[in-house]
Amino acid sequence: MLDPAPVSSLAAYAAHASLTRGRRHAEPAATPRSEFQRDRDRIVHSTAFRRLEYKTQVFVNHEGDLFRTRLTHSLEVAQIGRTCARSLGLNEDLAETIALAHDLGHTPFGHVGQDLLNECMQEHGGFEHNLQSLRVVDELEQKYAEFEGLNLTFEAREGILKHCSVKNAQQLGDVGERFVAGRQPSLEAQITNLADEIAYNNHDVDDGLRSGLITLEQLREAAIFARHLDGVRRLYPDLNDRRLIHETIRRMINTLVTDLIEETRRNIALHRPDGIDAVRACPPLAAFSAEIREESLALKRFLFQNLYRHYRVVRMSEKARRLLRELFVAFTSNPRLLPPEHRERAASDLHRTVCDYIAGMTDRYAIREHRRIFDIEELA
Ligand code: MG
Repeated sequence: MLDPAPVSSLAAYAAHASLTRGRRHAEPAATPRSEFQRDRDRIVHSTAFRRLEYKTQVFVNHEGDLFRTRLTHSLEVAQIGRTCARSLGLNEDLAETIALAHDLGHTPFGHVGQDLLNECMQEHGGFEHNLQSLRVVDELEQKYAEFEGLNLTFEAREGILKHCSVKNAQQLGDVGERFVAGRQPSLEAQITNLADEIAYNNHDVDDGLRSGLITLEQLREAAIFARHLDGVRRLYPDLNDRRLIHETIRRMINTLVTDLIEETRRNIALHRPDGIDAVRACPPLAAFSAEIREESLALKRFLFQNLYRHYRVVRMSEKARRLLRELFVAFTSNPRLLPPEHRERAASDLHRTVCDYIAGMTDRYAIREHRRIFDIEELA
């Protein structure tokens, strides 16, 4: 068993707020908060963050009130990320910031939305959702008097830009350099990236079962699930399914988090980074053990084949694709359909403006906007 770590015991290899590489626009110190606490607070107060409540991945918002949304997903990532960060002597505030911001660039209707926008934008620079998250915090949020975006620290921006094509990275300045140079981000970013994987694998199991699209017995195909399910059944043979599922999932999350912390600790001991720049120069340090990595991948494959490709999910995805494509074509063929606040930018950069507008929509806003444009009996 791992001991709980005390608060504020930052290791040398952690991101120290006092040593931040700073913000794009200089600002007075964030006192009494740390720079990363200020980053987190700006995210919580952003419009894009509130939109996460009505954006989904597997299940569209109106399919049920209890399925995960991008907002609850981000909170679960933050919870897991903070646990790992504290246990490893990393900066919890930065891990939380990255977790809460990591999906801000997500389109409506999850992956199908991002694939569709990428197709529509092929001749105009493409669409990558991680890059879009960075665009949201760097440019698209417009709330502050003195700068565009949220003016977050380098470390938060570095963590938000989880993946990026080299072509796009070359145009991003400091935050893109690592993709060209083949370096890693902070450990806080690395940990949060894996916390994301732990969160979605587990909550998609839960949502998949709740929806009835996959069953407990089917899930036994995934060894990590079978092992934990059997363990709970042995201990509590009379448990009802709802509690059985939750007990199984919470034990799986615990196994994954504990393994991640232990393996990362081993890697740190092996490479002995003496600061955040040494972390960036090392191979990836945050990792699962080989055995758990394989089990986690097997669970992911199971979900891909049985849940994400379930015919009912595919049908909804197809409807979402069609709806978003029709919106994109409508706005780019006639920019006067755009609400007035987008017109000025549309005049100089039509496709990117439409792409940003659509990417920012929630599931239900996209559905409503489509009705307003295509349904003659709907008010425009
Ligand atoms: Mg995520």
